[in-house]
Amino acid sequence: MVVTFAEEEVDRVAEGVVAEGDLPLLGQDPHATYRLGIMGGTFDPIHNGHLVAAEQALGDLGLDVVVFMPAGRPAFKLDKNVSSGEDRDTMTLLATSDNPHFLASRFEVDREGVTYTADTLELMRRMYPDNVELYFITGADAIADIVHWRDADRVASCARLVGATRPGYDLDHARANIAASPFAFDVTYLEVPALAISSSYLRDRVRAGQSLRYLTPEPVSGYIQKHGLYGVRHGRYES
Ligand code: ATP
Ligand code: MG
Repeated sequence: MVVTFAEEEVDRVAEGVVAEGDLPLLGQDPHATYRLGIMGGTFDPIHNGHLVAAEQALGDLGLDVVVFMPAGRPAFKLDKNVSSGEDRDTMTLLATSDNPHFLASRFEVDREGVTYTADTLELMRRMYPDNVELYFITGADAIADIVHWRDADRVASCARLVGATRPGYDLDHARANIAASPFAFDVTYLEVPALAISSSYLRDRVRAGQSLRYLTPEPVSGYIQKHGLYGVRHGRYES
């Protein structure tokens, strides 16, 4: 069962039994093993490709919960115009709210400065007891790059990786990169029902006044329209 953190658990955080903030409470039974999935991304906006990949990981790997964690200031998108952390966090919350096994977390959005996955995973590794296994879920494009990320060795030592198929990206390329890496990545490759969509594609559609129906949950497209994200042309774009 997934329980979100409550105030009265403060002492147990100090004892290292539970996590803090909006991260899920896991690891209570020392004789049990818990599996926590972490789906990182810019999520500008979150879309059904992210949700399908996470759902597949949840089922195939027997995860207890998947935490969707919008990046604060994504290290590799510093030169790009990215929506505010608040908007991306709210859309992530809206997209995940109907799934009891999905959570949205502000863990990265609330951290100052540029966010690096290695720091996030190391903090989480220290926060949770050893009977909580961490699984960092990525698509085929991200897993191929991960060997080049800052402190890739720390990423490898703090979490297992899940590499999901993604149309347009070759998982074999990712496999080759991982195999050639000097670091001991533990990767599970995952076949995900193909959705050839990206946040960039959704942003382009909004700009062109086209619908996002069936590409992202309705509350997300409603939020985009209401808040005029991605250059919504008033009166044109309808969810
Ligand atoms: P952008 O076009 O802005 O780069 P994106 O769709 O690639 O957006 P990100 O937030 O960059 O979304 O990706 C977060 C994670 O989700 C990455 O690990 C990425 O590989 C994965 N992902 C994104 N879209 C899909 C998809 N359609 N199928 C499988 N995985 C995906
Ligand atoms: Mg991307």
